[in-house]
Amino acid sequence: MIYKRSSALFAEAQKVIPGGVNSPVRAFKAVGGDPIFVKRAKGAYLYDEDGNKLIDYIASWGPLILGHAFDPVVEAVKQRAELGTSYGMPTELETKIAELAVSMVPNIDKIRFVNSGTEACMSAVRLARGFTGRDKIIKFAGCYHGHSDSFLIQAGSGAVTFGSPNSPGVTQGTAKDTLLAAYNNLEEVETLLEANKEEVAAIIIEPVAGNMGCILPEEGFLEGLRALCDTHGTLLIFDEVMTGFRLAPGGVQELLKVKADLVTFGKVIGGGLPVGAFAGSKEIMSHLAPEGPVYQAGTLSGNPLAMAAGYTMLKHLNDHKEVFKSLEEKTAYLHKGLEAAMSTADMPWCINRLGSMISLHFTEEVKDFATAAKGNNDTFKKYYHHMLNSGMYLPPSAFESWFLNDALSYEDLDKTIEATAAFVKQ
Ligand code: PMP
Repeated sequence: MIYKRSSALFAEAQKVIPGGVNSPVRAFKAVGGDPIFVKRAKGAYLYDEDGNKLIDYIASWGPLILGHAFDPVVEAVKQRAELGTSYGMPTELETKIAELAVSMVPNIDKIRFVNSGTEACMSAVRLARGFTGRDKIIKFAGCYHGHSDSFLIQAGSGAVTFGSPNSPGVTQGTAKDTLLAAYNNLEEVETLLEANKEEVAAIIIEPVAGNMGCILPEEGFLEGLRALCDTHGTLLIFDEVMTGFRLAPGGVQELLKVKADLVTFGKVIGGGLPVGAFAGSKEIMSHLAPEGPVYQAGTLSGNPLAMAAGYTMLKHLNDHKEVFKSLEEKTAYLHKGLEAAMSTADMPWCINRLGSMISLHFTEEVKDFATAAKGNNDTFKKYYHHMLNSGMYLPPSAFESWFLNDALSYEDLDKTIEATAAFVKQ
């Protein structure tokens, strides 16, 4: 494929935007080569500036469950824009989407909308600290909760892709309040809680991890965290920025039947527009300003265009629950096909999947960050460019999950499986 115009645009962008991109993973540093500049997208496909058509496996990093430019969402945004794009005043629409989200997600009474997943997680942690009167949090190596200071400690996603899981600019003072454990390791969490008695406000976790590739919680892990939190008076925060409204209408809490105290959302809840949210019980959420003393605010929070897109998306998912089944079936089909294609490969590999999140790791077994980091990045790079040249856009880093969308056809999936088989042959 030809990427001449993308390369030229990237050269221009680098003159005025650091690294030429507004979010690091997009720059293709992990896989080499120049990033693809998108012109438009519809359904399961991206159309780039050089006229290439690509099957999209990132779906804007998760949210576009129904595919790009889903007609009802586009129509809702258009109609809403005619009425004004922002007021900084309450609208009825905010209550409607809040009511819908509260009805879909277990264990939440109230929800506050923000503009990104980062804001959602950072605000949830502040609320947990304000609620418990404690300072420390526990996070897991390789989990990513946005680029707020207290999360850039052994963070996954772009932070680890770029070799800076601990970013300069995060003060020692902040870093000392973030305690680290390995994913799927309950003993480490217990040891931290014992050593920091009555000091840990919250444990924050991606209940199904997507930022070190896809990693599943082992049986009993999330239940164990719940029990430890109950024993120690610590809040359990599920970061469902990727999993919420994707793995099930009520997210991982519904799917794996584990209760969180606070839940954070992003992306999906905005139907592809910049939205995040955090939610919890009445008791905890009442500590938030203006009801309570924990401050949190946003000029564009609850933006009418974003709320219109989000409401339309959630309503569609709620009214068409068969979408979750269809996505699961498509991803299971892809999983099986990739497994068959890889079965003759003369290299270590494994596939992790839950619902419509899947990743192919070039190492034997991946259950935490240390095992994810063993993945062979040279093989990943070769695979990445082979797939790109075969017309598939995969996440351009081994430390990211693939996200399927329901606009994908079985023909698209077959092409992806065939391209993988061809890679193995080569
Ligand atoms: N939490 C998780 C689990 C995420 O995957 C991300 C983004 N990939 C974030 C938080 C941060 O979201 P945002 O990029 O919207 O700030």
